[in-house]
Amino acid sequence: MRILLTNDDGIHAPGLEVLERIASRLSDDIWICAPSEEQSGAGHSLTLTRPVRLRQHDARRFSVAGTPTDAVTMALKRLMPEPPDLILSGVNRGANLADDVTYSGTVSAAFEGAMAGIRSIALSQVYAVEGQGDKVPFEAAAHWGEAVLKPLLGVPFAPRTLVNINFPALPAEDVKGIRVTRQGFHDYARGSVVEGTDPRGFPYFWFGLHGIEHTLGHETDLEAIADGYVSVTPLRLDLTHEESFTALKGRYEG
Ligand code: MN
Repeated sequence: MRILLTNDDGIHAPGLEVLERIASRLSDDIWICAPSEEQSGAGHSLTLTRPVRLRQHDARRFSVAGTPTDAVTMALKRLMPEPPDLILSGVNRGANLADDVTYSGTVSAAFEGAMAGIRSIALSQVYAVEGQGDKVPFEAAAHWGEAVLKPLLGVPFAPRTLVNINFPALPAEDVKGIRVTRQGFHDYARGSVVEGTDPRGFPYFWFGLHGIEHTLGHETDLEAIADGYVSVTPLRLDLTHEESFTALKGRYEG
């Protein structure tokens, strides 16, 4: 099995090392192509307005000065002689839950893989305490990664779907198990815009996210994480809302 690893935290991120260790238990045919710098919050953006530089670190290890989507595109279209059987994106430093998946470069890299018809899985490690930087513990992901991935390798993925995995912010032995979940709802109130003053006296703004999640729905990713489970959410690329489609057809086309 040929596996492509990517992420949105960058080629040097500790979570990518964790993912390499997880993937090495599944295969020895591992390719890596990741952004050269952190791209958290890049979503599914594709770089169109400037050239993208590619750097080779090893025979199968590359970085691109671009987004996670750029990295996957480069790997599939330029680097790998044969397409991978599996794309793993992560392990992200921090949660990718509920509607936040639309901001996520980690999840979007898996979206890109799903578009290419490749089995694609995003992995994220939730953390409990803000301000830990690169010291976020990946213990739950490191310990549970293989167990949560293995069943996903034995089932067919429907076309244009992917799987989004989140590991709870708990020591591995305190994780209660694995739950299959639906995408939950982001509480929009938890976003923040922090204002500061730069060294030249001009104001700047920094977008942040509070650590408070609101569990509004049963069987959601948020609920599973809050209850101490690994969350496994199948997602799809087709965002069409079927009921609205029918209602709008009636309104416009009578
Ligand atoms: Mn990230």
